[in-house]
Amino acid sequence: MSQKLLVVEDEISISTLLQFNLEQAGFQVVTAMDGKSGLEKAESEEPNLIILDLMLPEMDGIEVCKELRLRKLNIPILMLTAKDDEFDKVLGLELGADDYMTKPFSPREVVARVKAILRRSTSVNTESEKKKEEVEHLKIGEVDIYPENYEAYFKEKALELTPKEFELLVYLARHKSRVLSREQLLSAVWNYDFVGDTRIVDVHISHLREKIENNTRKPIYIKTIRGLGYKLEEPQ
Ligand code: CA
Repeated sequence: MSQKLLVVEDEISISTLLQFNLEQAGFQVVTAMDGKSGLEKAESEEPNLIILDLMLPEMDGIEVCKELRLRKLNIPILMLTAKDDEFDKVLGLELGADDYMTKPFSPREVVARVKAILRRSTSVNTESEKKKEEVEHLKIGEVDIYPENYEAYFKEKALELTPKEFELLVYLARHKSRVLSREQLLSAVWNYDFVGDTRIVDVHISHLREKIENNTRKPIYIKTIRGLGYKLEEPQ
């Protein structure tokens, strides 16, 4: 699939020149002659990049830029300005233009800039998508925990946990199958670095069991290891 570009330019000679060269470079090109229809096409055509002239009828390039950001359309923008336009480059970039070019320009230069911006924005997108996939997900039997989102589920139903219950569950899950002493849990979850009252751990364990065990008398997730502590394990 070729990438789609939107050219918003009211000077027909420039628009035609850009369209021709960009199509030669393998892009699909859509054009608009004024700011208002440019904005409409940005929404309906979903281009990968917009080449946006600064001086336009109806709405100028700055207004289009602002409106795009307001509508959360994060499409990269290459701004075009004439040499004598009073264009504040800093303002343009702050408003969300990714780059700008001053007329007159060579079509080859425009193509090179477009490719550079697209390369940058694609790598940013794949990075954020990768991050999304990397959200920590702990799964033990039918318990699903997403520590960063502060969410936990049992049999796909959201668990109502107090902050400490949640932290305790996360800690147990991160140390799955390991026996953890009450003192260890106390220091990890309650940050007690002295010997505190370990009954607080037992109380929270019993609350957790009520939420994730079918039978709290015969727990299959959180096991008591006599004389040692607790461990969370995959149910058999
Ligand atoms: Ca113009």
